[in-house]
Amino acid sequence: MITAGRKIRLLTIFIIAYLLMAFAWWSVLLYTKNKDAFEAKAELLRIGMVAEGIYQNETNFQQSAAYQELNQKYTRQEWMILGEASLFILSLVIGIWLMNRGFVKEIDVARQQRNFLLSITHELKSPIAGIKLVLETFKKRALNEDQTRQLTHNALQDTERLNTLVNNLLMAARIEDAYEISLEPHNLNELVEQVISEIRQRNPAVEINFKPEKDYLAFIEVGAIHIVLINLLENAIKYSQGEIKNIEISLQQNDQFIDLCVSDHGIGIPDNEKENVFMKFYRVGSEDTRSTKGTGLGLYIVKGIVEAHKGKIKIEDRIPNGSRFVVSLLKV
Ligand code: ADP
Repeated sequence: MITAGRKIRLLTIFIIAYLLMAFAWWSVLLYTKNKDAFEAKAELLRIGMVAEGIYQNETNFQQSAAYQELNQKYTRQEWMILGEASLFILSLVIGIWLMNRGFVKEIDVARQQRNFLLSITHELKSPIAGIKLVLETFKKRALNEDQTRQLTHNALQDTERLNTLVNNLLMAARIEDAYEISLEPHNLNELVEQVISEIRQRNPAVEINFKPEKDYLAFIEVGAIHIVLINLLENAIKYSQGEIKNIEISLQQNDQFIDLCVSDHGIGIPDNEKENVFMKFYRVGSEDTRSTKGTGLGLYIVKGIVEAHKGKIKIEDRIPNGSRFVVSLLKV
């Protein structure tokens, strides 16, 4: 089925093709007419010279001042036609390119917004439904201690999920609105340990290996890097579904930076998606085929925060499978 957007695009291509062909035809016509006018004027000149008795032969005629002047005028006009035609075609091509770029961007934004709406609806609804169910169970039934603990744990997990979502939404708004951070020296080990313990509370089955060899001090805004770590770790868990959720965090120091690496043995990220995943609302695949839920905001925020720290982020592949996110932060 041809969508309205496609129809407009086809119509635009048709109009542009028509414009180009019409212009090419007019240019050729103008060029030929100019040539005809020159030949007619040269003929008139020749007849005049014959009448005055000064025409000797064609070489002599073509060397005469009057013919030379006519020829120069004709060549100038020829260049003018060629110049204008090239300029027109160039502006048209630039115009088409700009239009096409805008069009592709618009499609992209529409796709992202659709993805975002679909995912955010799920991300909000499912923990709310979970918490509601727990509260209703508490209201209706008398539960023993174990059941109470389990349900409370479930409700807390859902609350954390909502909390992360709200934090991400607030952070996204902050990043887009002249985001300024106040950096202070902080021990990254402490922060990593704290985030690991938060993640373990929510996902007791997940294994996270972290063995710092020494203290690593970096200039960071603690709250912001906390969000970075939570997002990277939650992704590492989420995209390791069905695999052994064995996650590693490591810290390495070089001349200028401390590299904070979060590695997983999950599904990995193809090379052609490594840049895209940092785009707002971008999620690999489509909403219909994906099994994991999310908003596509996490890595966009992570990158925004890292860049505000004047740091860098990159994704590497792991062998045989999985990804490693390397966040480089300015060391103290
Ligand atoms: P979300 O996880 O909410 O979809 P993110 O911005 O955090 O959004 O991630 C964007 C996309 O990048 C994800 O949808 C997923 O396709 C991919 N991705 C992120 N982290 C990983 C990872 N550790 N392993 C594989 N794919 C990942």
